[in-house]
Amino acid sequence: MITRRTTLQAALASAALASISPVLAAERLNQRVLLASRPKGMPTLENFRFDSVPVPGIGDGQVLLKTLYLSLDPYMRGRMNAGKSYADRWELGAAMGGGTVSRVEESNNPAYQAGDLVMSFSGWQSYEVSGGQGLTKLDPRITRPSYALGVLGMPGLTAYVGLLDIGQPKPGETVVLAAATGAVGSVVGQIAKLKGCRVVGIAGAQEKLDYAVDELGYDACISHRDPDMSTKLAAACPDGIDVYFENVGGSSWEAVMPLLNTFARIPVCGLIAHYNQTSLPEGPDRMSMLQSMILSRRIKMQGFIISDHTDRVGDFTRDMSTWLMQGKVKYREHMVDGLENAPEAFLGLFSGTNFGKLVVNVGS
Ligand code: NDP
Repeated sequence: MITRRTTLQAALASAALASISPVLAAERLNQRVLLASRPKGMPTLENFRFDSVPVPGIGDGQVLLKTLYLSLDPYMRGRMNAGKSYADRWELGAAMGGGTVSRVEESNNPAYQAGDLVMSFSGWQSYEVSGGQGLTKLDPRITRPSYALGVLGMPGLTAYVGLLDIGQPKPGETVVLAAATGAVGSVVGQIAKLKGCRVVGIAGAQEKLDYAVDELGYDACISHRDPDMSTKLAAACPDGIDVYFENVGGSSWEAVMPLLNTFARIPVCGLIAHYNQTSLPEGPDRMSMLQSMILSRRIKMQGFIISDHTDRVGDFTRDMSTWLMQGKVKYREHMVDGLENAPEAFLGLFSGTNFGKLVVNVGS
């Protein structure tokens, strides 16, 4: 899906371009999206600023990268905060970070030639000068390079490790997953089906529920916007829940909790419903109830961060490439056209406007 430029985004982009002097406009320019301010709660477009700076020349050992595709991911919200989480914050006034598929335009580094496609962390900008560290050449067998940011990249690996290594699903078991049609969730659900499980998704809009059942092959998919979500989830899981792949938290977790079976496993992958919270929600402290449930039902709940699991890349790449080639895993991208539309697209991750892996087509 290609989204059209909105009036607001186009206005912001042309305002940024208008501020550039005629002299600079004649040069090759690096368009950037900078972190202008730290969000309080839900981010807004005012937290981002556009600018353009001349593309510098490259020195010995360096390469000039042109960004083709930029991955937009929920973890970026945490990097916009001042405090440290499991990784460092991003600095104010600097380009937002992010995984990219980039093309080598010029090279003074013998390991790279002009035209090579690489995985990089060039961030929200159209060019980057790199010393070559941290770059990975794209496997030429990947016919769709943007997949290296999704099903064959970080989100795909997250689904694979979280479900298989932590969730450990067995044939006949019931697997429930939240954000069920997204970059990670859609892969989790399809792998669980391949392992012979009953798969029940939780997602937002009706078109996502239909897609989960009709295209991804889930047994059922329930909307977290449905006031009867708990009742419908219970009906869709007549034998309880053995694995809950947590991507969201909030009301999805509330509905899942009572249905968890003895020896259930919960890979805690993400909590997107809470990323914009500024304080704990009001209400009674139910921590002791949760601990009692974990104890009495012998539940295993394990958080994981995918960068700790690079040892699984080889197995993942082999299995996922095979499943894709055989048509056993389908993948949907939500492709947004133009870097100037990245902020608005990013905000949409928190209201579910993305339908599939969110990627920005930065340029060709
Ligand atoms: P998705 O492609 O699934 O996009 C995010 C989706 O989350 C939205 O489309 C929306 O889907 C859902 N969502 C957003 N806000 C809410 C809410 N308040 N309540 C319910 N659903 C909501 O993103 P990813 O697949 O990239 O990421 C999914 C999760 O995995 C995130 O929590 C992310 O942080 C985590 N993650 C963790 C990693 C790790 O190493 N632990 C690595 C990669 C991702 P819908 O319309 O269906 O509601």
